[in-house]
Amino acid sequence: MCGPCCPGKPNTKRLKIGSQEVGIAGFDEIMAKGLEHLEDTDKIQRDVILKELKVQNYVPESVEKDYLDAVWAEFKQIRAKKLGQLEEKYHGIPREEIHWFPKVDYELCTNCGPCFKFCKRGVYTFDEKPYVTNPYRCVVSCTGCKGSCQEGAISFPSLLELRDTMKSLRKKYGLLTE
Ligand code: SF4
Ligand code: SF4
Repeated sequence: MCGPCCPGKPNTKRLKIGSQEVGIAGFDEIMAKGLEHLEDTDKIQRDVILKELKVQNYVPESVEKDYLDAVWAEFKQIRAKKLGQLEEKYHGIPREEIHWFPKVDYELCTNCGPCFKFCKRGVYTFDEKPYVTNPYRCVVSCTGCKGSCQEGAISFPSLLELRDTMKSLRKKYGLLTE
């Protein structure tokens, strides 16, 4: 992959597509487009990647799926790395110090599963009931999965609490600008 050392030079990555090795032009741009949609579904990410792939390359219609599958496999690796980085820090603050993630009230939960399906960040795992196994992958201030729960079993801290937490953490880490 071409880095910032050679600006303007088209970046090309060679991928195995079917039985052939093919150079994919604009690989970095294609990945970047996909990463802009981290919070969206896999389907949306695949559509965005395919669109950009076709902007940068001639993709014969008969093998479009093969091209997309090969690029998608690369994207999933890059996406996993990115999610790992997001898990570590949030605006310079260790993510583990920000206690923002869903809590499931198992008294209300009927184990129906939409929360698990809704979250594309892998915050939940599901084994007969939902478990919040990767809490620090939760996007700070997102409450998306709450709306997917018909039982009202999912809760988050209030936005006011979040604001106060962020303020004191910014202070702690010398990140306050005012
Ligand atoms: S959507 Fe709500 S009720 Fe259904 S499994 Fe998730 S938390 Fe439980
Ligand atoms: S709020 Fe829910 S949907 Fe949004 S990132 Fe966190 S766990 Fe996932």
